[in-house]
Amino acid sequence: MFRYDNRFTQFLPGDTEPRNFRRQVFGACYSRVRPTPVPAPRLVAYSREMATELGLSATDCDSESFLQVFSGNQVLDGMDPFAMCYGGHQFGNWAGQLGDGRAINLAEVVGRDQRRWTLQLKGAGPTPYSRTADGLAVLRSSLREFLCSEAMFHLGVPTTRALSLVLTGQDVIRDMFYDGNPQREPGAVVCRVAPSFTRFGNFEILGARQDDEVLRQLTNFTIEHDFPDFWLSRQTEVNSPQFYADWFAEVCRRTATMMVHWMRVGFVHGVMNTDNMSILGLTIDYGPYGWLEDYDPSWTPNTTDAHGRRYAFGQQPQIGMWNLVRLANALWPLVQQKEPLQNALQEYSESYHRQFETMMAAKLGMAHYDESLIDGLFRLLGSLETDYTLFFRQLAIWQESAVPADNFEQWFDAQGIPELLKPAYYNLGQWSQTIAQRTRDWLGQYRILLQRDRQTPADRRQSMQRVNPKFVLRNYLAQLAIDAVAQGDFSPVARLLDVLRNPYSDQPEADSFAEKRPEWARHRAGCSMLSCSS
Ligand code: AMP
Ligand code: MG
Repeated sequence: MFRYDNRFTQFLPGDTEPRNFRRQVFGACYSRVRPTPVPAPRLVAYSREMATELGLSATDCDSESFLQVFSGNQVLDGMDPFAMCYGGHQFGNWAGQLGDGRAINLAEVVGRDQRRWTLQLKGAGPTPYSRTADGLAVLRSSLREFLCSEAMFHLGVPTTRALSLVLTGQDVIRDMFYDGNPQREPGAVVCRVAPSFTRFGNFEILGARQDDEVLRQLTNFTIEHDFPDFWLSRQTEVNSPQFYADWFAEVCRRTATMMVHWMRVGFVHGVMNTDNMSILGLTIDYGPYGWLEDYDPSWTPNTTDAHGRRYAFGQQPQIGMWNLVRLANALWPLVQQKEPLQNALQEYSESYHRQFETMMAAKLGMAHYDESLIDGLFRLLGSLETDYTLFFRQLAIWQESAVPADNFEQWFDAQGIPELLKPAYYNLGQWSQTIAQRTRDWLGQYRILLQRDRQTPADRRQSMQRVNPKFVLRNYLAQLAIDAVAQGDFSPVARLLDVLRNPYSDQPEADSFAEKRPEWARHRAGCSMLSCSS
């Protein structure tokens, strides 16, 4: 089925203990471990784009062999399954060894165009890193991970991918609300796919244990295999402090880029612990994530974080920095100089701000960032519950109509509500004179700036619609798909995946998927708030 090239296990030190029991693992980057078989696997969905990348046809994906492999029942010749050893800072505190507690890397394969991918099962049974947990995953979190990985890919956000979602036929016990009411839930396995699943935490655990030897091996391996351009251009400098510092700066830039994308599409990761930060700058570990509905920078979907709001939407860029500082500390033995590391961190800030400004200007269809306009926009979005996605999408349409010089007034109703923006407002009952004035002022300022712009309003609408998605994986849409699958109907997953394939296209037949969150979903678990239980 695949062409294998298992480099992680070939080139890096592994655990010498072959038995699968929970323990601390020293002097190694991974432990070999096999998935636990499941009784009655059923394929819920697969991603045809990911399958194509891997060289798999539709017939391959519908085959019995595919089901057996991606449920964990069969390990193919050439696969070399392992779980990674990593640590992490969770909610600001060092947590020691974590590791792949329920993820098993099956193999590294070479796909289309010689691209390399690691195939990883999540929820396929315990590993040496499972600590007190069972190594399993439930349907709801697995389906959310499967769909969101692919949705993010189609949105153009750097992300790990997903190949398949399989029901195991075995229930898993979870206390979803942590209130002493454990329930049986259907178990599932997702096959995740990425060039590599290495995290900040893989370096941190070696740093914390002062295992400089393995730290250098892992770092060199990562640079050579995951940053091949950097490696090739700097090969003569390997092992020099500047070599590692400059590579760290590249990690900083990639992390900044990922943050800007999250802010663009309104994605809230929910658990930005350092073990959930990919060294490649990919969005990784979809847990209690959420999509911003009404614009609120302090919003977090994660009920565990409801008090501290450490990982709220607006905090994410700063937390990115905090996490990079942890990574810099871990890499200290390789650099041993403050300045180059500090310069790299400084570059994170600068790169983030530069990219954020370009992104915000693009969201508004403008060639340049205008600070007072953007500040005013965020104030406006915060003064009445406004859907972040719909607002920008509708604004693209609004400007096309309202920019011509003589017709500003006709785009407001009697109460001063801009007609074309109405779909974005959650609670027009709270519309007031003050909000009307603020809205008119801001739209007026925006319009004047646009009138100075060379682009035609029609071209501008098109360019705005390329950065402002119409379709995101609204929290309640994922929940509806979960409910359907739990009832045995898999078709809503395929439908949703289909719509999310083209998030920037109008797809008028799919308008219902673009609507703002319905009122019933406002306080329903799984729709507006999620626990970490998964
Ligand atoms: P998370 O906060 O989900 O990223 O998980 C933190 C750590 O807990 C990681 O090492 C996970 O592999 C591990 N973990 C989470 N859930 C489970 C589970 N059900 N079984 C085993 N390990 C788990
Ligand atoms: Mg994790």
